[in-house]
Amino acid sequence: MGVVICAKHGMSGIAICIEKAICDKIYQNESIQDEELTIIHVEVFEVNSDGEIFVVNLNHLITKELKEKNNLQEAYKMLDEQAFDELEKKMDAGVTCGKCFQEFAQANGWSEQFINYAENNL
Ligand SMILES: [Zn+2]
Repeated sequence: MGVVICAKHGMSGIAICIEKAICDKIYQNESIQDEELTIIHVEVFEVNSDGEIFVVNLNHLITKELKEKNNLQEAYKMLDEQAFDELEKKMDAGVTCGKCFQEFAQANGWSEQFINYAENNL
């Protein structure tokens, strides 16, 4: 888990795999409603001689707008790093302060699945 130096919270846990456009709104404190959001479920596997080994869930929080624009699926199973990098680009992932994220999510009245997103993703 990484840390970020936040102007408001000081050294704080980082929230990852969030679309940059959403991170920008958090920084600028512009509202965004949870109807505009969706979660893309990403399971990362490592492949070796024993077969596929599950590594981590890296779910991404993005806008429905981006999902449509880049023709993204609801769920992905990633078996190699290159494919994951390409997917990451399509999801235009950024990072933000975990506390700012939680405050923003609550202030905007998001549903639980989105409010708890950062926690579940650490
Ligand atoms: Zn913060």
